[in-house]
Amino acid sequence: MGNRGDETYDVVGVGFGPSNLSLAIALREHRSRANGEELKAVFHERQPSFGWHRNMLLPSTTMQVSFLKDLATFRNPTSVFSFVSFLHASGRLAQFVNNQDFFPSREEFHQYLEWAAAGVGDVVRYGSEVVSLREEPEDRTGPVEHLLLDVRDALGQVRQVRTRNVVISTGLVPHMPSGVEPDERVWHSSEFLARYRRMDPARLRSVAVVGAGQSAAEITRFLHDELPHAKVYAIIPSYGYSIADDTPFANQVFDPAAVDDYYFSTDQARDSFWRYHQNTNYSVVDDDVIRGLYRRFYDDRLRAADRLSFVNLTRVSGVKREGNETRVALHSQLGSHPSELAVDFLVCATGYDGMEPTGLLGELDRHCLRDDFGRYRMERDYRITTTPEVRCGIYLQGGTEHTHGLTSSLLSNIAVRSGEIAESILLGRPVGAS
Ligand SMILES: Cc1cc2nc3c(=O)[nH]c(=O)nc-3n(C[C@H](O)[C@H](O)[C@H](O)COP(=O)(O)OP(=O)(O)OC[C@H]3O[C@@H](n4cnc5c(N)ncnc54)[C@H](O)[C@@H]3O)c2cc1C
Repeated sequence: MGNRGDETYDVVGVGFGPSNLSLAIALREHRSRANGEELKAVFHERQPSFGWHRNMLLPSTTMQVSFLKDLATFRNPTSVFSFVSFLHASGRLAQFVNNQDFFPSREEFHQYLEWAAAGVGDVVRYGSEVVSLREEPEDRTGPVEHLLLDVRDALGQVRQVRTRNVVISTGLVPHMPSGVEPDERVWHSSEFLARYRRMDPARLRSVAVVGAGQSAAEITRFLHDELPHAKVYAIIPSYGYSIADDTPFANQVFDPAAVDDYYFSTDQARDSFWRYHQNTNYSVVDDDVIRGLYRRFYDDRLRAADRLSFVNLTRVSGVKREGNETRVALHSQLGSHPSELAVDFLVCATGYDGMEPTGLLGELDRHCLRDDFGRYRMERDYRITTTPEVRCGIYLQGGTEHTHGLTSSLLSNIAVRSGEIAESILLGRPVGAS
């Protein structure tokens, strides 16, 4: 059993990606407004330092959201944590404006996030993984006023942290094709760069990427550029990549106001919302990436190089390993016989499942109410609807697509959402709490 500090926090954040970073900023800015009155907050992040999808920081990749949808601006346009403030502090504001581009590179946005994370570094514990949550005390007879988190540090020591509210933001969960297990030659895109850097590019002759979304297209492009002597196979379930709709009317689904429209709609209206607008984000690719890939394909043909092959209408049905060779079983939807492709490695850019906090909630889950489909019932302020005996707040940042819509797993609305969560925690705070 680990040890426990005597302190009780108002809020503990599980995970410190952009969502909880944005919350830390909202809480910090509340403190400045409230003349120093402070909520006791701490955020636990299992990575040793701040990192946002580091394994996908490929050259030439750009954000799919405007720089103005940063960690704070939509909640507080005068925030010192805005992307514009970061540019100013970095001495690049004028040059950024000269670029006339709404969409910074992912590399630059990562630098911004690191800069902002350093600004609230005093409330973050890195190398610190939350392994479970429970009510406290476990033998209580009254309402649940506090939660106890088991937190494991980098040395494997577990200690307990007591809090009135918890905000879970552990991120998307990598999804592999069915029947395919990851190993040292079969990777999910979320581990791409770390795995790729362990390879000797000169020895690579044949590589494959499965998937039809943005990450699949970006990795295919990267491998084609990096490996001039290798064949690159893009295995896609559709006829070709589909374009991400980021035109102005469609973009309105990411507006903060769309959350209310979605949350307060009927099930039928929410369903139509999804069907109409999932092409703004799911299994779609930015126009310039699609055109760039096609141009490479065409140029190869011009030079009779034939390095880039699109294996369309095809799914991966399994993978066999024979020494260093990876044999990928392919199933064509055109009804032809199953075939095999021998590659040096296979990247599964097959997307993610939504955030799933059930395992973390453990026994506490019995207090969390679910809808007819087994999904968490959610309050508008992102609190899980619980049995009345639970007086503490269990908030989710992520995993609320069914109640709050498309922005749940994205950056578009994090500034406003974090502000709403901060307000909710402040409103629920017991008077005179210490
Ligand atoms: C390659 C890529 C590019 C993307 N680009 C965009 C984009 O341009 N625009 C956009 O809107 N969205 C984008 N997204 C969507 C993405 O979900 C968001 O960008 C963003 O990461 C959401 O932030 P988050 O904090 O909710 O989750 P995450 O960024 O996933 O952060 C979760 C954090 O929790 C930590 N963690 C997990 N479990 C624990 C635990 N038990 N204890 C402690 N820490 C834990 C993880 O280490 C991680 O740091 C992209 C996604 C990917 C994969």
